Amino acid sequence: MLSEKLREHGVVGAGGAGFPTYVKAQSQVEFMIANGAECEPLIHKDAELMKHFPSPILDGMTRMMEAVGSKTGKFGIKTKNHEALESLKRSLKNAAIEFTMLGDFYPSGDEYELVYTATGRLIPPAGIPLQVGCVVNNVETLYNVEQAAQDQPVTRKFLSVCGAVNQPKSLWTPVGTPFRDLLAMAGGTTVGDFGVFISGLMMGTLTFDLEDVVTKTTGGLIVLPRDHYLMTRKTRSQAEMNHIGKSACDQCSYCTEFCPRYLLGYEVMPHKVMRSLGFTVTGGDIWNQWSELCCACGLCTLYACPEDLYPKEACDDGKKSQRGAGLKFIQQKPVEVHPMKEYRRVPLAQLRRRLQVEEYETATPFDDAECRPEVVRIKMRQHAGQPAVPVVEAGKKVKKGQVVGRIEEGKLGANVHASVDGKVRTVTPEYLEIVT
Ligand code: SF4
Ligand code: SF4
Repeated sequence: MLSEKLREHGVVGAGGAGFPTYVKAQSQVEFMIANGAECEPLIHKDAELMKHFPSPILDGMTRMMEAVGSKTGKFGIKTKNHEALESLKRSLKNAAIEFTMLGDFYPSGDEYELVYTATGRLIPPAGIPLQVGCVVNNVETLYNVEQAAQDQPVTRKFLSVCGAVNQPKSLWTPVGTPFRDLLAMAGGTTVGDFGVFISGLMMGTLTFDLEDVVTKTTGGLIVLPRDHYLMTRKTRSQAEMNHIGKSACDQCSYCTEFCPRYLLGYEVMPHKVMRSLGFTVTGGDIWNQWSELCCACGLCTLYACPEDLYPKEACDDGKKSQRGAGLKFIQQKPVEVHPMKEYRRVPLAQLRRRLQVEEYETATPFDDAECRPEVVRIKMRQHAGQPAVPVVEAGKKVKKGQVVGRIEEGKLGANVHASVDGKVRTVTPEYLEIVT
């Protein structure tokens, strides 16, 4: 059965969340949706993957459609990626797959957005696509589905290395590759003092640790100079963000007016959440409820707010406080798309301008020279659910594709595999290292 192979071979959502794919393969739905939207600024690895590997993606999609009993497959792809689209069309054998053309907006790859664009259905508040008869998989996940069906476990990751590097590119690399090796593969950085955004400027994280490693969900590395506008924005402490927000928020509500979830009809109102900063003793719970349906897309903080405040981070905090207090917000109003939704879309070109990264927008062409690190560090938690448990000892030789971390029977999670041939150097409950 497909779901058993996906579980054994460690397939998880490669688009970011890392949700174990075998669970999705066990459902029965009307529509199987491939997510090729890719909307994080500067990252173009899915476009490269679709252009160069169309057949395994489409075959993986067909396998998922068969597993979930879906008679219609919707393939979400941006019109601007015409080379990838042509490549997919040339390889298309399954007449039940149709393309859903998307504009170049942020965040058109959000599941709620994509399900609505592809099917006209609105996921219930705090719900999942399954509740409206849909399963959504990122295109690289579908590639991995096809590999797993042929008994090839997930041992490598496709990603873009871009920004302030000499040769921006997209490439395959073993899971566990240190970032330092990937920057070398991209010809080194163009600046001496820099930080690295992992998986995106909008929803990714910022690191200065080049020994950190690639996981099954790493979408790309974006290098930016240490004095870049976004570095200042992303390195503020929570206390500072709150302090500035409390004194400078004028409640203009642009953050809410541009919020993609609000525009879809969900009760997310970051401007109200900002009020919680001024009501720290009482009333926080009233304002925080407006954060619960936020998807953390970052648009309010990095695009909408004219004062450069932090409504997204206030929502992150609000959600934590709600959970901590055992409170749950349940939307009473029916979900109805805002009449201004179509007019408030954020084009990627405008977003890049606002983020001050226009100079780094460039192609990231596929380079088939795979990275060959001397050491890989394979994390036991690369997915949603429980971490895997190491099943090899230090000093043992392992082969690429061998299971090195197993998920307990009955637990949600994913097995992890050796991504290279080599000798196990270190084993901890969190990771293991293999020397090639
Ligand atoms: S956009 Fe900025 S200033 Fe306006 S309400 Fe939101 S956080 Fe406050
Ligand atoms: S991060 Fe901001 S814009 Fe995005 S969903 Fe949350 S509140 Fe809305």
